[in-house]
Amino acid sequence: MDPIRNVLLPQPIEEEALRLLHKNGLNVMQAQGTDVSTILPLMKQAHAIVLRTGLKVTDELLCEADQLLTISRTGAGVDNVDLKSATERGILVTSSIGVNTASVVEHCFSLMLSLFKQLPFLDAELRKGNFGIRYKNIPRDLHGKYLGLIGFGRIGSMLARMCNSCFSMQIIAYDPFLQESVREKNSNWVTFADLPTVCEKADVISVHVPLTESTRNLLNMQCFEKMKSDAFVVNASRGGVVNEDDLVEALEKGMIKGAGLDVFQNEPPSRDNPLLKMHNVILTPHSAALTRECVVEMAVSAVDRVLDVFNHFIPDNIVNPEVLEQEQWKGMSKKTKTET
Ligand code: NAD
Repeated sequence: MDPIRNVLLPQPIEEEALRLLHKNGLNVMQAQGTDVSTILPLMKQAHAIVLRTGLKVTDELLCEADQLLTISRTGAGVDNVDLKSATERGILVTSSIGVNTASVVEHCFSLMLSLFKQLPFLDAELRKGNFGIRYKNIPRDLHGKYLGLIGFGRIGSMLARMCNSCFSMQIIAYDPFLQESVREKNSNWVTFADLPTVCEKADVISVHVPLTESTRNLLNMQCFEKMKSDAFVVNASRGGVVNEDDLVEALEKGMIKGAGLDVFQNEPPSRDNPLLKMHNVILTPHSAALTRECVVEMAVSAVDRVLDVFNHFIPDNIVNPEVLEQEQWKGMSKKTKTET
C-alpha cells in the first residue's frame, strides 16, 4: 500500500472497523464535530472519508479535497454526497448497499406487525388499567392481505418473500426499473403493476426506493386518495420519498389508517412536527439498520472498500463507476476470490 494515507471520520465508527484502519497503518483523522467549520480544514489532507449520515459532503467541502480518492458510505443511501461534484473530481463513491438488507427487512416487518396488531396502543391501554380493551377486537391479521411495494430491490424483495412465505400475503409491486428477467422470475408470486394500482390494492404499502429527483415525493396525496381508508404506510427508505405534509393530512383526515416511519423529511424531525403527536403512527429514529450486529458489518465493509481502493483493487458497490474511466484510475484490478 502507498505510504501515509489519511482517512477522515466525520463521526466515530465501530471499534472493529477502527482497528482495521489502524492494523493497515492508516492515519485516522477523527473529526470533533460535523459542522462545516470543523470538517473544511480536514478535507485538504483526507485521502478517504468513511461517511455516516451525520454529514452532507457538499461541493463546498469537495472544493477543498485536493487529495481525496474515495468516499465510502457505511450505509446504503448516498443522498448525503454531492455525487455530481464527486464524479467531476474523480472521487470514487461507494456504499454498503446490501449489507443491511436483513436488518432493515426485520425492522419494516416489525413496524407492519406493530401497526396491524396495534401493540403500542394496547400496551398503553393495559397500563392505564383498561384490560377490557381486549373485547374491542382492535388487532388485525396480516394473513392473506395485500403488501404493496414501492421498489422491488434488495430490501423490497426480501420483505416480500418473508411476508408471502410466513403469512401468505399477496404481493403487488411497483418498480419500473426492474430488469425484465427479474420480473419474469418472480411473476408466479408477485404482481407487478403501476403505482396507482398498487395504492388501490394494498392493505399496507412499504417504500424501498433510493431518494433521487425522480423519487422525491413519489408517495403523495394522489396516492393517498387512492388508498383504502384502513391501509397502512411503512417508510424506512428516505423521508423525502413520501411527501410528509400530504401524509400528515391523509392521516388527520382518516384517508389512511396509520403509518410506521423510520425516516423523515428533516432529521431529526423538529419538536413541532405533527407526526410526533399522532397516535396512529409508530416512529423510530432512522434506526432500521442500526442493530448491534449490523453497524459493525456496515462499518467494516466501508473500511474494506477504502483498503481496496488504496491497494488498487476495484471496490464493491461503486455508485459512480464512470469515474473509473479517468486516467488516475487506470490500472485498478479486480479482486480474485482469495483476495476478498
Ligand atoms: P436497491 O437498490 O436494492 O433497490 C431499490 C429499488 O428501487 C430498485 O429495484 C430500483 O429499480 C427501484 N427504484 C428506483 N427508482 C424507482 C422509482 N422511481 N420507482 C419505483 N422503483 C424505483 O436498494 P435497497 O437495498 O432495497 O434499499 C432501498 C433504499 O432503502 C436505499 O436506497 C436507502 O435509501 C434505504 N435504506 C434505508 C435504511 C434505513 O436505515 N432506514 C437502511 C438501508 C437502506
